[in-house]
Amino acid sequence: MLVALIILSIGLYFLIKKLLHKNDKFVDEKLSLIHNEEHEIEEGLVRPLSLVYFDIDDTLTNADPEEVNMIINFLTEERNCIIGIITASRRTINHVCFEEETNKYFDWVPKNLCVALNKNKFKTFNSHIVEAGETTEPYLEWDFGIKKGQQMKKGQKQYNIKPEHVHLFDDNIRVLKHARQVMPHSKFHIVDNNNFRSKLTLNRIKNIFKE
Ligand SMILES: [Mg+2]
Repeated sequence: MLVALIILSIGLYFLIKKLLHKNDKFVDEKLSLIHNEEHEIEEGLVRPLSLVYFDIDDTLTNADPEEVNMIINFLTEERNCIIGIITASRRTINHVCFEEETNKYFDWVPKNLCVALNKNKFKTFNSHIVEAGETTEPYLEWDFGIKKGQQMKKGQKQYNIKPEHVHLFDDNIRVLKHARQVMPHSKFHIVDNNNFRSKLTLNRIKNIFKE
């Protein structure tokens, strides 16, 4: 009788230990899941992907390069953004990022712009003669706004991004209005670097991308 009781007690001890251990494991897994979610939010991995295009002339050319440098760092590292260029000029990727005399003629180019463009193999670079990074025939569309909207749409589809997460910064209000006709749900931002309210600054960008 005593032996049976001892055996039963030992059995019960291991059964309870096993049940408790199982519970611990469950709690551990749950905690690590919560931890991972927090980690992802902290790292910005769960933010929706955005595509942010900048015009060049009078948008980047007369902005403070250091300020644009900080903007690009913020957008790429803290807001999960892909950086792009849409210029109506005849510039190529070489003109912006690989000219030997870039420093002489292109002192507006912020240090990390080309690094950000290179990350996507320059597929977000658009101009009058380059579309999605590929050299092309000069476009026939006379309306730069419509063309810029079409180039935004191409990038939006290529990267499978929601239209509302596609942005264009440009100094030309007419261009922005016409681009909006093609991408009615995207975000359009006027830039005037001579006006403290609408110049390109990190603070302004932080306000736009504050979520
Ligand atoms: Mg311009």
